[in-house]
Amino acid sequence: MKAPRIGIFCSGGDSPGMNAAIRACVRMALHLGYQPIGIRRGYTGLIEGDFVELSAGSVSGIIERGGTILRAGRSPAFQTPEGRKQAYQNLQARGIQRLIAIGGDGTARGARSFLGEYPDLQILLLPGTIDNDLAGTDYTIGFDTAVSIAVDAIDRLRDTAAAMGRIFLVEVMGRDSGFIALYSGLAGGAEAVLVPETPTDYEAISAILERGWRRHKTSAILVVAEGDEAGGALLAAKEIQRRFPQYEVRAVVLGHIQRGGKPTAFDRILATRLGAAAVERLHEGAHSAMVGIQKDEIVLTPLSRVSKAHHPLNPNLLRLVEILSL
Ligand code: ADP
Repeated sequence: MKAPRIGIFCSGGDSPGMNAAIRACVRMALHLGYQPIGIRRGYTGLIEGDFVELSAGSVSGIIERGGTILRAGRSPAFQTPEGRKQAYQNLQARGIQRLIAIGGDGTARGARSFLGEYPDLQILLLPGTIDNDLAGTDYTIGFDTAVSIAVDAIDRLRDTAAAMGRIFLVEVMGRDSGFIALYSGLAGGAEAVLVPETPTDYEAISAILERGWRRHKTSAILVVAEGDEAGGALLAAKEIQRRFPQYEVRAVVLGHIQRGGKPTAFDRILATRLGAAAVERLHEGAHSAMVGIQKDEIVLTPLSRVSKAHHPLNPNLLRLVEILSL
């Protein structure tokens, strides 16, 4: 008898640790008697039938690699009923009913649309996004690595900022959420963080900078989430320069560097635990949910409740940045 199949794909933006998740899914699937099938380029591969049988060896040596061996990507075609019909027909033709999608908010929306039309499918989502902005999990796969990269950059900028007596504005990723800005700002000892969740208060920022200079600080680092009300680091730098013409103000945009490179041990372990759990839970009959981690326990959250909107920043951490910037 042929082994039942589990399809695995990465969708939306890639995040470090996706490979560790794929490896865990593949090996746990084989352990439980399934044939894992990789689907390349996310929903695009589903529509185009870009499928590949995966073996234990095909995921060797990938746990430490960034990016994703299955590639990721966006698929406008999957947002149409025709695209989803084609995807469903491809799955049926290959006898695949169980799917593990690794991605973020958009991937969850896609899975919900798909399940709305084809409820016989069994889909679990793994939270794969650097933004950490999904309700139902304390951490998403890739967030810790992105924060580590941003902190490393902040440390380097602090050296040169202090040597030259400059103000640096460092832009990190986060169109709708300030998790990376807040965590990297805390770890990098930033004077302030600017996040989309709160209004940009230049008066308060100016007061923090002035307080620092009165104490003879030689540098200042402001971490700006790309989606902050200020409009990013370049615009915020202009405004700070206007207010403080006597200082040199510089802006640095970290951009996609935050998505590349080796995943941290934390992300590898998170991805490994979530990937293995996803296969085990599918095996037990669970579906239509995201597999996340809360208080170090694996938790399933119905896909209907997985969204960006409901994972708020901890206001106490925002306060800490301000208090500790003395
Ligand atoms: P992420 O999962 O990282 O948030 P995106 O927002 O780019 O990434 O979404 C990934 C893909 O999910 C999209 O390219 C699209 O194919 C699919 N998708 C998003 N929203 C929907 C929707 N409402 N219906 C169907 N598919 C969707």
